[in-house]
Amino acid sequence: MSTGAFRTGIGYDSHRFDAARKLRLGGVTIPGVPGLAGHSDGDAICHAVTDAILGAAGLGDIGGMFPDTDPAHKNADSLEMLRAARERLAAAGWRVVNVDAAIVAERPRIAPHREAMIRTLAPVLGVDRSGISLKGTTNEGMGWIGRGEGIAVMAVATVSRPVDANSRG
Ligand code: MG
Repeated sequence: MSTGAFRTGIGYDSHRFDAARKLRLGGVTIPGVPGLAGHSDGDAICHAVTDAILGAAGLGDIGGMFPDTDPAHKNADSLEMLRAARERLAAAGWRVVNVDAAIVAERPRIAPHREAMIRTLAPVLGVDRSGISLKGTTNEGMGWIGRGEGIAVMAVATVSRPVDANSRG
């Protein structure tokens, strides 16, 4: 760990609730709560984390990698989008060190689903469980989140690669 490059990236995503869809969050299906609107499955945790790891590695963003004008991504599984982003990092010599995300929503509560989400995300990101942190908070009834209109997620990621990989660009 004494040598190598470390970089940090940030990701943000928000999606409106859509009662006609199933809720997918952190790669997990959560019953009893409206789903999220979106061109893909609307998984705002996967989207924010995807942007965080791509940003950390300087490899663009989720919108560039998966344009929502592309019918191929309609109803796409966001866990597979995250997997593809991590493979792009790996091809450039980067590995994910850790991810920390804050989920801001009046519902669902995150805590009961945290372990399932971490178990799902860890192998996709190539980290062990301690490399993923997911924290839920409400917005105390304020604003669009407080009115229960949707969910917002903020994520940061740290990535690393050996110094001798720097020449890969
Ligand atoms: Mg999104």
